[in-house]
Amino acid sequence: MQKIFSFKIKLIAVISCVILCALAITGVFAVKTFNESKVLTVVIDAGHGGIDGGASGVNTGVRESDINLLIAKELKKHYENAGFNVVMVRESDVGLYGDESKGFKLRDLEKRVEIINGCGGDFLVSVHLNVYSSPSRRGAQAFYKKGDKHGEILAKKIQGRINGLGVVPRLYDALHGDYYLLNNSKIPSVIVECGFLSSPEDEKLLISSSYREQIASAIYSGSLDALVSFN
Ligand SMILES: [Zn+2]
Repeated sequence: MQKIFSFKIKLIAVISCVILCALAITGVFAVKTFNESKVLTVVIDAGHGGIDGGASGVNTGVRESDINLLIAKELKKHYENAGFNVVMVRESDVGLYGDESKGFKLRDLEKRVEIINGCGGDFLVSVHLNVYSSPSRRGAQAFYKKGDKHGEILAKKIQGRINGLGVVPRLYDALHGDYYLLNNSKIPSVIVECGFLSSPEDEKLLISSSYREQIASAIYSGSLDALVSFN
């Protein structure tokens, strides 16, 4: 009995060691491929926050800002587990606009850009949700700034992983978009619109933790796909 017990302990120790080594190797690989000299820093931006809730769910009225933050926190876990430094633009339900006076949206975006460009980040993932006039429009889509070569690779690889989830009926190509954040960020950047809150089906997915985990995992994996092809 004692022998079996100690054999089991040894077996558990060996399995744990193998798992930890595998995780470490994956992380180091992901980090070193892009830049040999340092650990990479990912900037994660959960769109909106505070008085700016962003879009609202068509049936439940859920706030975009809340779902964005939940997805951003899932992403944070993935990157930290792989050995990245993570800078969260926000980690609670707050805006970055100072007082709630006129022009707060622009001040919020300016502050985000200040954080993104001032934190020594290597790339940015900004999380948002979409709305459209027709409730039948569904799916997630990644955007980049035209001319941002690495941002385009990020968006395309992330889009590939999202399409590979097979969750939504409509698949998209990554597109270039005219967004303040993309236009003013100085690091490779992607905005991921993770679904349509104007679609009852997408809304149902977005309020479920399993879909948020899937979409975060796709964004994370897609960014690793991109990093290995940066040069
Ligand atoms: Zn948004």
